Amino acid sequence: AKGSGRGRVCVFRPEMHDRLEQKRAFEEDLRKALVNGEMEVYYQPQASAATRVIEGYEALLRWKHPMRGSVPPCDFIPVAEEIGMINLLGEWVLKTACIEAAGWPSHLKVAVNLSPIQFRKKSLLQTIVSALAYSGLDPKRLEVEITESVLLDANHKTADTLDGLRQLGITVAMDDFGTGYSSLGNLRRFAFDKIKIDRSFVQDITTRADAMSIINLVIGVAKGLGMAITAEGIETEEQFECLKRLGCEQIQGYLIGRPMPASQLFADQRSKTAD
Ligand code: C2E
Ligand code: CA
Ligand code: CA
Ligand code: CA
Repeated sequence: AKGSGRGRVCVFRPEMHDRLEQKRAFEEDLRKALVNGEMEVYYQPQASAATRVIEGYEALLRWKHPMRGSVPPCDFIPVAEEIGMINLLGEWVLKTACIEAAGWPSHLKVAVNLSPIQFRKKSLLQTIVSALAYSGLDPKRLEVEITESVLLDANHKTADTLDGLRQLGITVAMDDFGTGYSSLGNLRRFAFDKIKIDRSFVQDITTRADAMSIINLVIGVAKGLGMAITAEGIETEEQFECLKRLGCEQIQGYLIGRPMPASQLFADQRSKTAD
């Protein structure tokens, strides 16, 4: 019953139907991805800016669908949030990362991204406690990364959750700093252990004075508040030198290493010692 007569608005066209079908198919595939074993956690190194020694890894989710190929997280994480899959997926990443990290040399930390939806869930702390207990990972070796969006509607529960995480002994990093609803007041109100400077600033640091100024400011604020600083998305030696000069302590990016499967993490060292 499509209205196509004059003066009537045709709101539903066949190509919209196709798109809706595609969206449904995508959601269905995503719902089945975990049980079908299509999800994998990759790990990207985070290194000391002073020595380039690896201090930990960020866990990054990968979806490899038999027909769709590699689906990037920016395409499926928002859908997972929309269809209520993110809690299950997020718990799986957390548990997997804790189990894998428990088998690494004990000076190495693991950082896990938490969706704002996970962060707001009442059972978050219990979920983390369970993952730690099950894996045997020392809480000090676990870091969670949250984005500024969790502070948008911050209330006493936000502060309680952050305090709870701290009391467990895990560290909390503010991810993608500077891209969202950044407020210096929030930094003062909620004591994060670490601030991660977003790649968009790092990318421009050698070419744009404004990016350099913002990074300089953020590093100064973080230092003043006793927070650690990690710069992400470092791809070149020039970017690295510039950040080091500004006082950045930790670096992450293709220059140091790409995200890779757990099985490949220590392959380098092994082959080097084998030579
Ligand atoms: P993010 O947390 O900011 O993660 C960093 C992203 O930058 C990763 O993209 C990483 O592969 C990429 N990256 C790192 N170094 C470089 C570099 O030198 N150059 C360039 N061009 N890119 C670099 P990825 O893995 O595609 O993840 C995208 C986003 O998806 C993440 O951004 C995060 O917001 C989200 N995400 C990934 N895994 C999870 C997860 O397990 N849970 C949740 N909630 N979100 C996740
Ligand atoms: Ca992150
Ligand atoms: Ca980030
Ligand atoms: Ca980012």
